[in-house]
Amino acid sequence: MRNKDLITALEHWAPPELQEEYDNCGLHVGDPEAEVGSAMVCLDCTEAVVEEAAAKGCGLIISHHPVIFHGLKSLVARGPVERTVLAAIRHGIALYAIHTDLDNVIDGVNGEIAERLGLKPVQVLDPRPDQLGKLVVFVPQDHVEAVRSALFSAGAGRIGRYDECSFDLKGTGTFRAGPGADPYVGTKGERHAEAEVRVEVIYHRPMERAIVKAMKAAHPYEEVAYDLYPLNNAHPEVGSGLIGKWDEPMGEREFLARLKEVFRLQVVRHSGLTGRPIERVAVCGGSGAFLLKRVLRAGVDAYVTGDVKYHEYFDVDGRLLLADIGHYGSEQFTTARIKRHLGEIFPTFAVHLTETVTDPIHYS
Ligand SMILES: [Zn+2]
Repeated sequence: MRNKDLITALEHWAPPELQEEYDNCGLHVGDPEAEVGSAMVCLDCTEAVVEEAAAKGCGLIISHHPVIFHGLKSLVARGPVERTVLAAIRHGIALYAIHTDLDNVIDGVNGEIAERLGLKPVQVLDPRPDQLGKLVVFVPQDHVEAVRSALFSAGAGRIGRYDECSFDLKGTGTFRAGPGADPYVGTKGERHAEAEVRVEVIYHRPMERAIVKAMKAAHPYEEVAYDLYPLNNAHPEVGSGLIGKWDEPMGEREFLARLKEVFRLQVVRHSGLTGRPIERVAVCGGSGAFLLKRVLRAGVDAYVTGDVKYHEYFDVDGRLLLADIGHYGSEQFTTARIKRHLGEIFPTFAVHLTETVTDPIHYS
């Protein structure tokens, strides 16, 4: 296994194109081609985590928060970031961050929160525009299944809980091969008519290049006729936050108790009780107050996030129950989600969860 095999698997799940503008996801340190025997997953990559990874023989650390966030102009062992990076280099450990790209897919950070709470995901809270495209390709009949399989393997044709979605329309294509051409069928210099199938698939646009490459590799023609269309359809699974629901509503006290139990909290900060039962809940791991206006319009009964400030509790104005479970609290199970994802793809590859607690906030 090489670092890049693990990174490719992560990036198929959470394409780095989905990261926010301010972010710095991706490989920060190390060689993508380097062999790796095992990996470690953490929320925050600190010097202690690097030492733990070194002691356990892990060649790659996958962190949720990027180690290098604001940029480095020198690598001198003074600040915690520099010391962490230097330790990683010293031990030959690669550092990779999967941050807001994983926040922006429905089965990422927020999918894990919803699952732990027993919520059925309904949709992302704030869908990203311009995420979907359609590929139409004209394929001679004897190659339709090969091209279709290549498209699916590259990630095209996924709609919600369905994959391998496509549409076929039979027709006739014509072409005339010119000088220097090497046509798959037909005679050079003569117009040829070929029975072809118009194959259509939807795809997530960050994957466009890989999908077109795979399609061309499986297509027998020298010059492949294909179209790429941007779609105005919103991608219901890409964007910030998540709305989920329970089959049965629960009381507010019971809801707060569940938050404490599931997220192992000493205390939950929350806005005043509304007196209404809770059925539809919005969640956003990390600092989710930026979504509050959107949440208030979404018709949910509660909002679970972290890093809520004093004045933001006023903005709620009795319209829902706002619960702050802490930044670390809300993201603590993200590491397990990453481990599980890699385990499904590489069942025999060892992925460790860090045993170092990196929550910088303490309560007394
Ligand atoms: Zn975070």
